[in-house]
Amino acid sequence: MTELNATIIGAGIVGMSAAAFLQRSGYKVTVIDRLPPGEGCSFGNAGGLAFAEITPTIHPRVLMKIPGWLMNPLGPLTIRWSYLPKALPWFLAAGRNAMPDRVKAITEARAALALRVVSDFETLLKSAGAADLIKYQDTLRLYDNEQQYQAEAGERETKKSFGFEMKRISGDEARELEPALGPNIHCGVFHGGWYFVTNPGRAVKSIAADVVKNGGAILADDVVSIGREGNKVTHLVLKEHGRRAVDKLVVCAGAYSHLLAKQLGEKILLEAERGYHMMLPNSGVSLSRSLTYARTPGAATPMEMGLRLAGTDEFAGLDAAPNYARADALWTIFKAVLPGLNAPDEATTRWMGRRPGTPDSLPVIGPSRTTANVWYGFGHGHMGLTWGPTTGRLIAEAMTGAKSNIDLSPFRADRF
Ligand SMILES: Cc1cc2nc3c(=O)[nH]c(=O)nc-3n(C[C@H](O)[C@H](O)[C@H](O)COP(=O)(O)OP(=O)(O)OC[C@H]3O[C@@H](n4cnc5c(N)ncnc54)[C@H](O)[C@@H]3O)c2cc1C
Repeated sequence: MTELNATIIGAGIVGMSAAAFLQRSGYKVTVIDRLPPGEGCSFGNAGGLAFAEITPTIHPRVLMKIPGWLMNPLGPLTIRWSYLPKALPWFLAAGRNAMPDRVKAITEARAALALRVVSDFETLLKSAGAADLIKYQDTLRLYDNEQQYQAEAGERETKKSFGFEMKRISGDEARELEPALGPNIHCGVFHGGWYFVTNPGRAVKSIAADVVKNGGAILADDVVSIGREGNKVTHLVLKEHGRRAVDKLVVCAGAYSHLLAKQLGEKILLEAERGYHMMLPNSGVSLSRSLTYARTPGAATPMEMGLRLAGTDEFAGLDAAPNYARADALWTIFKAVLPGLNAPDEATTRWMGRRPGTPDSLPVIGPSRTTANVWYGFGHGHMGLTWGPTTGRLIAEAMTGAKSNIDLSPFRADRF
């Protein structure tokens, strides 16, 4: 029997999940990344398995808020103005995708991806001996007042129509559950399906170790270019290891994926939606679940390293220097919710990561349209930790021709 070989570019949650599921389908896998596993965007996210988040990131209610957000350089969304001309095609496409008919179709596609998020994650973490990283506590969304709560009625209705139950509790009930919450909280709502992972970087590293234990290889290198003959990829050119032959290629390179797809003649609208976190080992606050706050996007998640405040969206391209004042702004926001939150100290760390964002809040999953032996798994934006394992399974199913539970057409690469 001929050996099946797959090379995967990217050792984030998506690439490592693809490697793990391809192994289960009989492939010998090699994962190439210039960073160690789980040290790209997958390292520092908020840890949310946010499968109930089926409404696209940009939808009519958010669209109305964007002008106000843009007025504040430390607000939830910012654009470095010198970068705007480059990002304009992405923003125009995002605007088109916020129209009601598109929002409906995108919501349906996101709901389909949600179906096996938890079981796919469990499959990988159980095999890696790290199942304890998932905490099965639904995230609590907090509101300052009734108006804020009512403003989200439409999104709650949508979620309900897909079977996600969103239970409302009073401010006092919220404080009963989470005594660290302040007196300003008017009410709370459970997200209806948003568990959390207590160390996303360790989750990816555990999956990577399991892939290696099962015979896979991880190669530390930079993919400089992709070599093609006709409509097939034949080799990669690596910075350190030079030319390396390829049988089947899977591109899971996060926010850098469009640069590789471009070499294959495919135009993908992908922007680095740069987010920040502040990690507080000495937060002074104890939480049993992750919190989100309706006043501004972002999450506070209790992790094994301390309390992580994560969020914000900055459009400045891949290479601009981080602006850590955005991480500090997260502290100010959550101090309003958690009055006992300690000020940052010498143990506090700040981080910036590049979410691979498409303008329709859907990832690219499936075969390349230009090249016969290439598959894609990238563009997961705000949902990569959540959808990563399921994407890995779908890629393995697509590559082996196995029957799948999900129609991949909304995720095709030639939709941009
Ligand atoms: C602040 C913040 C909070 C977030 N919160 C959540 C959350 O709560 N829930 C959720 O589901 N998602 C969340 N996300 C999003 C999530 O982290 C990402 O969608 C996800 O990590 C993307 O995974 P990935 O594997 O595609 O990319 P990455 O983890 O970035 O992996 C891609 C890898 O490809 C490598 N690479 C790229 N190009 C090359 C090349 N040419 N050669 C070699 N290697 C290459 C990179 O080095 C990198 O390691 C959040 C993101 C941020 C920034």
